[in-house]
Amino acid sequence: MSSPKTFKFRLYPNRKQREQMLRTLDACRELYNAGLEERIGAWKCRTPVNYNTQQNQLPEIKAIRTELLNIYSHALQDPLHRLDKAFKAFFRRCKSGQKPGFPRFKGRYRFDSFTYPDGFKFVGSRLQLSKIGNIKVKQHRPIEGKIKTVTIRRECGAWYATLSVEFPPTALPRTDVTIGVDVGLESFAVLSDGTTIENPRWYHGAQVELRKAQRRVARRRKGSKRRRKAVMLLQKVHQRVRNQRNDFHHKLSCWLVENFGFIAVEDLNVRGLAGGMLSKSVHDAGWAGFLSKLSYKAANAGRTMIAVKPSGTSQTCVCGATVRKLLSDREHVCLSCGLIASRDHVSAQVILQRAGTLPSSDNVEAISSCVA
Ligand SMILES: [Zn+2]
Repeated sequence: MSSPKTFKFRLYPNRKQREQMLRTLDACRELYNAGLEERIGAWKCRTPVNYNTQQNQLPEIKAIRTELLNIYSHALQDPLHRLDKAFKAFFRRCKSGQKPGFPRFKGRYRFDSFTYPDGFKFVGSRLQLSKIGNIKVKQHRPIEGKIKTVTIRRECGAWYATLSVEFPPTALPRTDVTIGVDVGLESFAVLSDGTTIENPRWYHGAQVELRKAQRRVARRRKGSKRRRKAVMLLQKVHQRVRNQRNDFHHKLSCWLVENFGFIAVEDLNVRGLAGGMLSKSVHDAGWAGFLSKLSYKAANAGRTMIAVKPSGTSQTCVCGATVRKLLSDREHVCLSCGLIASRDHVSAQVILQRAGTLPSSDNVEAISSCVA
């Protein structure tokens, strides 16, 4: 088994390349929107369309729209794949009773990337893309593994290449140290050994800056140049926050995987929680993003990671007694065993305990176990 991994590099295209990249982006967006329109029409007269029927029309479309012949053909299949995925996700949400959110038409500023499933090659410090050319790359770290796809993305006025790479897992030296991790509401997380992982220092400043940039956009007239500029600035703040958050998540998950052989976390089912009253803190802490990084790193290093059902982890003591707490109660005081500790610390211990009862207990769901 191998794990996916991504590398992101900044691109420095020349004018001609940039123009061709924009043309590719436009063509892909147009196809996406046309495909969406066709699906809606097909649905109305009850003749279902799927990815294959849409893809088979590509040659016909190209015969009429000859300018599409200048765009790399396999890159044109990707928007139809994305559309297919969007519809599958939509139907899945319908089924599971979530707010469905019908796939949307993409405006000029809502479609920022296209994907090459092949037709790319790295030559020295340049990325060779079929029908676009040899683009200068800032390759800040070596690529490991086999490149599966290359996605070109426009972000805050700059261009980036994201490589999706497959590489064989590299197991870390065995360790039997176990740890439970609880999402904190005040801190980022609390571990079962009592360690508190604070939210990083940039966190609050970033919130203030985001609000400021958001307000600036809201004040400006829709469709105006000044609004466009404000949106660009807002995106830059978002980009910086995202980078900082990702960096923090990567470092923390690396540290956990290096030091612990068995990691128990709460399966927060973030989507379910996101609608509730805790939504802001869960979103901001980006718990889901952190968990996915932790899970692939654990799998790759041959560690065991277990997600337990979170219900009641904050209402139970390690001795098994029920200790009722309100959200505002930060202290855990157990009347049956006398344990007094901080709320999140006890929760982390309970999570570890629950994970330890695997696999007999059905309230546990394994995210990943040792490398298969
Ligand atoms: Zn107790």
